Amino acid sequence: MGAQQPEPVDIRRMPLKRRTGWLRRHFDLRPRKSLGQNFLLDETAAGRIVEAAMKFSPREVMEIGAGLGALTVPLADADYQIIAFETDPTLARALRWLFADVPAVEIREEDFLQTDEQMGGERAVAVGNLPYYITSPILGKLLQSRPGFVALVVTVQYEVAQRLRAEPGTKQYGPLTLFCRYYAAQVSAICTLPPAAFWPQPEVKSMTLSLVARAEPPPQITEPVAFFAAVRGAFAHRRKTLRNSLRTADNLELTDEQTDAILAAAALDGQRRGETLDFDEFIRLGNALDMVTKQT
Ligand code: SAM
Repeated sequence: MGAQQPEPVDIRRMPLKRRTGWLRRHFDLRPRKSLGQNFLLDETAAGRIVEAAMKFSPREVMEIGAGLGALTVPLADADYQIIAFETDPTLARALRWLFADVPAVEIREEDFLQTDEQMGGERAVAVGNLPYYITSPILGKLLQSRPGFVALVVTVQYEVAQRLRAEPGTKQYGPLTLFCRYYAAQVSAICTLPPAAFWPQPEVKSMTLSLVARAEPPPQITEPVAFFAAVRGAFAHRRKTLRNSLRTADNLELTDEQTDAILAAAALDGQRRGETLDFDEFIRLGNALDMVTKQT
C-alpha cells in the first residue's frame, strides 16, 4: 500500500457495493465458482442478517466464508469478537488488510471443514452466507460442534432452506428436515435473496435462516442412532406405506414381525406414508425401533 492509499477504515465506511468493487479492483480478484463465491451486494440484506445474529446478544461470532467482508464489516461495527474463516488466500489477504486495525476480528485462512478446534460457547453464534457446494457438511459441522452455538444465522439456497424448515406432508419434508429438528429447536426465515443480490449472480435464489440450537438433544430420544435409522427407513421409499418402506429399507433389514412390533410399540398406523409423521412421531418410531431390535 502506498502513502496515497486509503486506510482500511475508509474502505469499511464505503457502501457495500462500492466497497466490494474497490476491493475487487485493488486485490485483482476473480470470483472462483469452484469455491462458491457469490458476494453479497445488498446492504439492507446484510443489515438484516447481522440484526438477526444480534438478537442472540452474542459475545463471540464465528463467520464461515467471510469473502470480502459483507457481513464481517457490520459485525465488527457491533463490537463482537469475530473469528472469520476464509479458505481463499487472495480473499484472506484482502480481509487481513481490511481489518488490520480491528483486533476483535481474527481472520483464519483455513478450510472450515478441516478445522478441528472446539467451537461455540454460551454466547457464541455462527453466521455465514455459505458456499453452496458444501452447505450440508458445514451445517452438520456447526450443529454437531461442541460446546456448540446458541444459534446459526445462515444463508443457503432457497430450495435447501425450504427443506430445512418443511412441514410434514410436503414434498420438501425429509431426512434433512428431521436432522435440523434434532439439533435446532426453532427455524425461522429472515429474508429471501434474489440472484441479483449477489455478484456474480448465482443461478437460484437464496434464503437466510435463523436456527436456534438445542443445548442438548431432545431428551425423549433414547438412542439417536435409532432415531436417524428410523428416519432413513421411513423415507427409503417415499411412495410406499410406512410399513412397506420400513420393511424393505436396506438400512434396517427388518422382518415382518419386527416391523409390526415396531409400529405397534410406536402406536403408528403402518398404512400412512412416512412423510406424514411429525417430529414427535419420529421420536416414537426411533424409540420403538431401538427397543424391538434390541429384544429380537
Ligand atoms: N460472506 C461473503 C458475502 O456474503 O459476500 C462471501 C459469501 S460466498 C457465498 C462463500 C465464501 O466462502 C467465499 O468467500 C468462499 O471463498 C468461502 N469458502 C468456500 N469454501 C470454504 C471453506 N471450505 N472454508 C472456508 N471458506 C470457504
